[in-house]
This record gives sequence, structure tokens and C-alpha cells, in this order.
Amino acid sequence: MPELPEAETIRRQLEPEVQGETIRRVRVLIPRIARAHPSPRALSRLVTGRRIARAGRRGKAVLLFLNSEKPSTLIIRLGMTGLVRVTPPDEPLDKHTAAVFDLSDGRQIRFMDQRQFGGVSARPGHDVDAMPEFKGYGPEPLSDEFTPDYLERAFARRSAQLEPVLMDQKVIAGIGKIYADEICFRAGLRPTRRANGLTGPMRRRLWQATREVLTEAIEHRGSTANDDNYRDVYGMPGEFQNRLFVYQRTGQPCRVCGTPIKRTPMRGGRGMHWCPKCQK
Ligand SMILES: [Zn+2]
Repeated sequence: MPELPEAETIRRQLEPEVQGETIRRVRVLIPRIARAHPSPRALSRLVTGRRIARAGRRGKAVLLFLNSEKPSTLIIRLGMTGLVRVTPPDEPLDKHTAAVFDLSDGRQIRFMDQRQFGGVSARPGHDVDAMPEFKGYGPEPLSDEFTPDYLERAFARRSAQLEPVLMDQKVIAGIGKIYADEICFRAGLRPTRRANGLTGPMRRRLWQATREVLTEAIEHRGSTANDDNYRDVYGMPGEFQNRLFVYQRTGQPCRVCGTPIKRTPMRGGRGMHWCPKCQK
């Protein structure tokens, strides 16, 4: 499932492909995908005729900042199975194609979403943090706002287990199952610890592990884990799945110490993967 590194990979690839193009027409083929608006027409009115100034990202969402007399922002939420491609107009439509944006140079941005948990929406202006999609979001973990001091404040009131707290978009934007598992491993911390029970040195390790894991995952164009359909803008799987230490490795030997990786269930039928020896 796409998280920050996968969304950032799409952003980096998409920008040079579409920057400067104007969106001529929008077609919503699966209406559910535009559910943030009263109708697909409302989405179309906010993006048609506008020029793509640059691509951005907030958390797990890819953004296109659009300019005209009335600037707006197109928000692409990848959900569980969202894919973004830039195609020639005559390329056959994938059956999961949910929205097509016709560009002024004849190509198309296509959004596909098999499970339809993702979506596309648009908002006036470019002030991302004022948009309802990102209400209450925590800092970007690769920004200067994200510091050990921030973690101290954010964790102070949170007695829940560390892993679900890391995945809470209101605490840190962009982290999901894969990278929460990997960050806890890198920090040497059990994901089952209480967030507000971490010491200062532990929070500092967690802060550093968060930056390192996400940065390395972006360098390897994200992760296409088992049962995951993530592909980049060019249809290629990520490469970071080959470098995962614990995620989806239940029972396999830890790459550091050889101890079998453990899985502890968490809410929603998912599990936390961790090494009982390396993580304290
Ligand atoms: Zn280990």
C-alpha cells in the first residue's frame, strides 16, 4: 500500500512529465473516485483549463498545483491500490481506470484504482494545510518541523502502542504499515511499547530512524511488497521491498541476528512485525 516514499516517487517522476501542460478535460470513469465533490462536474470545474505549475506531496497524497486566474490544487490520494500513469491518448484503458486528465500536448494523466479506496479531488488555492483532506495532519517527517522535541510533545499524551501512533497521520504525515515496522526495527524499539513511555534517547533514535528509512526508501523508488500492486509512473515496481528487515517477514530469520521475526496482531486484522532480540 502506497505510503510517503511511494507517493514521493510518483511526485518526482510526474513533475517533469507534466509541468507546464494545461489540463484540457477531465473524465471520471468511476464516480466513487470523486466522492469528495457533490458531482464529478464540480471536480472538473476546478481543474479544467488550468496549467500545471508543479507537483507536490502531503503525507501519502500526490498534489498538482494548478495556475490560472483562479489557482487550484488537484489532490490524488492513492489509497490502497492507486496508480498514476502518463500515457499517449490511444493506449488502451486499463479496466481499473478511474479518472483521465487530457493534457494540452495530447497525452493523458490516468488514475487507476482497483480497490477504490483512493480518490481525486480539487480545492481552490494552494494552501494545502487549509484543505479538508489534510485537516489536523502532523508534520512531514522529512521537513525541519519534525524534530526530537516535536516527538516529545506529540507522544506526551499518547499511551497507545508506538506503531499505531507512528501511523496516525495527525502525529506524523505519510507513514503506514511498511515503514512503521521498519522504523521501529531501525530504532531498536518494540512496536508494542507505549509511545509516551519512550525516553529522550529512544525518541532521538526513532527520529533518526524515521528520516533514514524514508530517505532510503525514496532512493529505491518505494516498496512493492507481497500482495501489493504499487508501480511507479513508468509501471516499474519499487526496489525497497528487497531491503525490508521485518515487514511481512514473519518466521523468517532476522537479517541482523537470525532470530525468527515475530508478528503481533494489531487492530484491523493487521500485524506488527519485529525482532524479539534486536528490538527492546
Ligand atoms: Zn534481530
